[in-house]
Amino acid sequence: MTEFLIHSKRCFINEEFFEATLHIRNDKILTTYRGLKTRESLPLLDYGNLIVMSGIIDVHVHINEPGREDWEGFDTATKAAAIGGVTTLIEMPLNANPVTTDIKAFQLKQEASKNKLHVNCGFYGGIIPTNKNDIEDLINEGVFGIKGFLTHSGIDEFPNVSKTDLEAIAPILKKHNIPLLLHCELSDDNVPEVTNPKSYQDYLQSRPHHWETNAIDLALDIQKRYDIKVHIVHLSASEGIERIKKHQQKTNKLTVETCPHYLYFNAETIPDESPIYKCAPPIRESINNDKLWSFLLNDGFNFLASDHSPAPPKRKQLESGDFFKAWGGISGLQFTLPILFTEGKKRGLSTEKLILLLTKKPAEFLELDYKKGDLIAGFDADITVWDDSHEFTISEESIRHKHKATPYLNETVFGKVIHTFVNGVQVVKNSEFKTLQQGQLLLKNR
Ligand SMILES: [Zn+2]
Repeated sequence: MTEFLIHSKRCFINEEFFEATLHIRNDKILTTYRGLKTRESLPLLDYGNLIVMSGIIDVHVHINEPGREDWEGFDTATKAAAIGGVTTLIEMPLNANPVTTDIKAFQLKQEASKNKLHVNCGFYGGIIPTNKNDIEDLINEGVFGIKGFLTHSGIDEFPNVSKTDLEAIAPILKKHNIPLLLHCELSDDNVPEVTNPKSYQDYLQSRPHHWETNAIDLALDIQKRYDIKVHIVHLSASEGIERIKKHQQKTNKLTVETCPHYLYFNAETIPDESPIYKCAPPIRESINNDKLWSFLLNDGFNFLASDHSPAPPKRKQLESGDFFKAWGGISGLQFTLPILFTEGKKRGLSTEKLILLLTKKPAEFLELDYKKGDLIAGFDADITVWDDSHEFTISEESIRHKHKATPYLNETVFGKVIHTFVNGVQVVKNSEFKTLQQGQLLLKNR
């Protein structure tokens, strides 16, 4: 049995900061006390003025194993997560091979994660045109949602679906109250011709706002007609905001996320020949991103997630600089907290609100908020301790993802994760690994 106390002058509990002592027993928070509490028989970890909060929950991560372990894997991704204060993540049904579109592939994925989970990990299943009969099996096996694309996903094994495909599975999603996650870009030919594939402007214009808004309209229509939970992943186009807002007034079954890269970078400062910044939908102009920030500050986004989507440097076409040949995806799982905290400080985002968007809110989306996303008695002891005054520059040596290629390299940021606890065990101590393999496989409703 392990039992100890954690004290800090700034614990974030039930949506506010105060001095508290957490009593941890085994994998749970046994109780919390206001102020400093000592017990002679129990070790006390006194973290002074560091922020002690519930561990970050990242609901949008691509790990690529099995099948594309040369892109990323469970071991490296969950190590990066732990160092970055992420204690729970949910893995997307692509870009592993096989993709998670039937129960056999889902079981293979669970098998592949064995002995490699350094944080807790759950999964989504995928919808493609040919697997409607597999959706209920995936749900019964424990996926947290079903994800689909409305445009080419980037890999041929995961073809995009049509409205008809989504309509076919909507009753199953409704029956199980499982969310449909949609990559909202609906492609058409109404885009300018590409003249220079190494130009960021050309890339940006090739994926216009209306691709996103057309897809959002489709998503809202399905949500309304079938009364199912619909989640819009990685909103980038601010043109989508008004219709989302309007729809959210009518239902709480529509949720929307955005990601650090859309909030931190702007198209104006992305140089040509730098596909390290390529993602889909693309990072847009600062005037667009100001609107994303305003939506965020007005509680429009339900939560924030990394969309960690790594690939080997060769796939990112770092040498050729060709945006159109490059893999679209940004590697950044480890840096969600400092990136958002640093930019958020400039934008007037309170630390309280940021923490909620990274902990309690995603826990609610996953329906894990009865045991994760807060530091209260009975909850899982997933805890992140960080220093909001610590400034540092992101260096190659500090990156724990499989590949060092990330647009966040050399950024100077505030907010360093110092300690991470997963299920009551200290996985990270003084920003170094202490005890590995403490993550659990999470299966919905099981
Ligand atoms: Zn993604």
